[in-house]
Amino acid sequence: VQAAIFDGIGHPLRITTVSDPSPRPGEVIVATRCCGICGSDLHMTSGGEIGFPAGCIMGHELAGDVVALGSDVDNVSIGDRVAVLPVLSCGSCVPCRLGRPAQCATFQVLGCGVIPGGYAEYARAMASLCLRLPDNLTYEDGALMEPLSVALRGVGFAQMRPGSRVLVLGAGPIGLSAIFWARRMGGSRIAAAAPSNRRAVLSQALGADSFVVLGPDMKSEVMDRLGGAPDVVIECTGQPGMIATAIDNVVFGGIIVILGFCPRQDSFLPAAGVVKEATIRFSMIYDIRDYRHTLATLASGVLEPRIMITDHIDLPQLPEMFEALRHRNNQCKVMIDPSAPSNSLGHPSAWPKSSPRIP
Ligand SMILES: [Zn+2]
Ligand SMILES: [Zn+2]
Repeated sequence: VQAAIFDGIGHPLRITTVSDPSPRPGEVIVATRCCGICGSDLHMTSGGEIGFPAGCIMGHELAGDVVALGSDVDNVSIGDRVAVLPVLSCGSCVPCRLGRPAQCATFQVLGCGVIPGGYAEYARAMASLCLRLPDNLTYEDGALMEPLSVALRGVGFAQMRPGSRVLVLGAGPIGLSAIFWARRMGGSRIAAAAPSNRRAVLSQALGADSFVVLGPDMKSEVMDRLGGAPDVVIECTGQPGMIATAIDNVVFGGIIVILGFCPRQDSFLPAAGVVKEATIRFSMIYDIRDYRHTLATLASGVLEPRIMITDHIDLPQLPEMFEALRHRNNQCKVMIDPSAPSNSLGHPSAWPKSSPRIP
């Protein structure tokens, strides 16, 4: 099995051969056909208070074909095209049986530690957390379901009502996905804020009414654009200082949802939150219902999130791309096809491909 290994901070990813994964009871092996490169993969391999261990095979935004079944699997079959909710858990405790594997005492996220993820030709996955892709959805749609589901859960915590004014901090894939859901869940006026206006067009395509550049002077501009201070602020940058920015901008009694994954210490003035009686809610990945709702939304033909995809690469191109993404760039979501197929992802001409391979 070809895989991209993280050797430690300062080293580029290394493509190498690792042993074949084998499924445990309740698990399947998925031949990865598409895996997104996530901003958190970059953050967690660049130093900070926490990070991925050396030896990690990253990739938690994956979709592919089921190629092997462990025992006790009856909801998917060999050959099924699936999107993977990327968690391994015990499968039998109460949260697991309710489809909330992230609350299981033993849960591990694929590609975020010891369990290899989608930066490889094959990955282990829980059968119960594989969702079959309908014919109108591509493997790329399946991989996009991960960031979309992250954002769906967070926006769900925002208690949006018709008329809500919404400020989204950050316009990477999570911020853009938050805009997409805020628009669909009652947000009436939505402003996106990001460090530069590179993402203004994408933000508006996903439902933002206006775009402001992040900075000390943004507050009055945000109020101007939204017609008042935001009822909801959704932090999606994962950068230190943004909780303070959220408190500064939110309306009295407003809700702040933290989706950004900031692996560094941060500080804010609690008194600033007290005088606004602000609620701060953190949001951690998703459960199976978030994934199902995302799938149903895409399957209904709502496919705007596809415009976040800016590039397609194969596994040998990954190390160079991964380092390039650490610096200023014009990419949004880069998709890897570790299996190097020739024509099943919906954008055959976009693939600078080597020869097709049969899993
Ligand atoms: Zn991600
Ligand atoms: Zn469990």
